Amino acid sequence: MSHTPFIGKRVELVSMDPHFHDISIGLYEQQHQGKPAYLVHTYSHKEGADKRISSVVETMKIFGGLESGDDGLLRFPCGDEHALAIKRVFLDSCKVAPRSDVTTHPLRIHDKKSGCDVTADSVGNGEYRLKIEGNPDDGPRRIAAIARGLARLGEMETYDDQIDRVTFACGQSHDALIGLLLIRAPNVRAAMREAEMMAARGVLAAPSAQ
Ligand SMILES: [Zn+2]
Repeated sequence: MSHTPFIGKRVELVSMDPHFHDISIGLYEQQHQGKPAYLVHTYSHKEGADKRISSVVETMKIFGGLESGDDGLLRFPCGDEHALAIKRVFLDSCKVAPRSDVTTHPLRIHDKKSGCDVTADSVGNGEYRLKIEGNPDDGPRRIAAIARGLARLGEMETYDDQIDRVTFACGQSHDALIGLLLIRAPNVRAAMREAEMMAARGVLAAPSAQ
């Protein structure tokens, strides 16, 4: 048997890629100098699988504001793990078909429940402030709900006395990430369910994927 290089601990799996022959694609976490770095990998030897992996990596760089070095691994510029957020970046990037035009998500969503737009403004030191336009009656309630959603999806800090405020513990801004998480923040339960379903499928798929 050929020597398999250490690829790291698998943290997420797409067991059937809808855009490339149902191959399974894994996200693996490695540690380098005490800092996390992420590898996107498939065990598939199908022709073109490497190109598909590159397209997922390129999409992740845009969706997550991630950097990649000469080693091909992905890292957040702050050097933190952002363990939940990286999974979301990976899952959403695998949903994008190769050769699609990929751009970062705006820091603005339309909130269906209030019928108003909600924006997130970076105010420095990893902090974001949410604003709802049009001043609807349920504005404060929606802002608080969306802030909690963001906090849960991105493992951010919230504040009881300032409901419009969320902060990354790393103290750095992650605009691309906030744009991505903001889409799901109004309906965080559905997003968490999807993540759990993917995790359960990952467990089932694990033996054949090794
Ligand atoms: Zn960070």
